[in-house]
Amino acid sequence: MIAMSKPRILIIEDERDLCDVLSYNLHREGYETFVAHDGQEGLRKAQMHLPDLIILDLMLPRLDGLEVCRQIRAGKQSHGIPIIMLTAKGEEMDQVVGFSVGADDYVTKPFSPKVLLQRIRALQRRSDNSTESKDVLEHLGVVLDKIKHRATVNNHELDLTPTEFRLLECMLRQPGRAFTRQQLMDFAIEEGAIVLERTIDVHIKSLRRKLGGESEFIETVRGVGYRFREGS
Ligand code: CA
Repeated sequence: MIAMSKPRILIIEDERDLCDVLSYNLHREGYETFVAHDGQEGLRKAQMHLPDLIILDLMLPRLDGLEVCRQIRAGKQSHGIPIIMLTAKGEEMDQVVGFSVGADDYVTKPFSPKVLLQRIRALQRRSDNSTESKDVLEHLGVVLDKIKHRATVNNHELDLTPTEFRLLECMLRQPGRAFTRQQLMDFAIEEGAIVLERTIDVHIKSLRRKLGGESEFIETVRGVGYRFREGS
């Protein structure tokens, strides 16, 4: 399980009253939220904060929801973020298009916050199942077996510390996704341990050294943190 802090949800919606209602309800359910009131601001915040989930209105000023969705999906760091589209009645065609540009689900306005919360939970469960429950991860010749607690690169065993193992696991679960130092710390460092964000850099350095010839698989993302290379 990813021991991350509160899941962070970005709400991109130009109706401010609706934003307030959603924020209020999501906070109450233990989510952290931030909002954007137009498409451009939304896209910028999505790429900057890399939230755990995005609620995206279809009709938005400056950049419409479909284009925002498309650009989030095309983003190197943002492409895997689950997106729920908000659509108005009578936009069925757009709903279809919304799915084809990569939204994961949609809710038709008007809706009750309860319905949206159910969809959010369902989507989270889905992405948990696809990314978190796997016991063996494999990518670019790097294999991580959680049951045996064994990591290999091109069949060559790596001697990793528990922290390095967990760091590798975190990144390997979502190759190509950039993780902030804070996210990596939350995942890899034992609860209660007091560490500085820079401590992650030390662990990463050591992990890269152990990967030897494949050290470049762990990429530095400037201003963000690190990611595991997506393709060869
Ligand atoms: Ca709107």
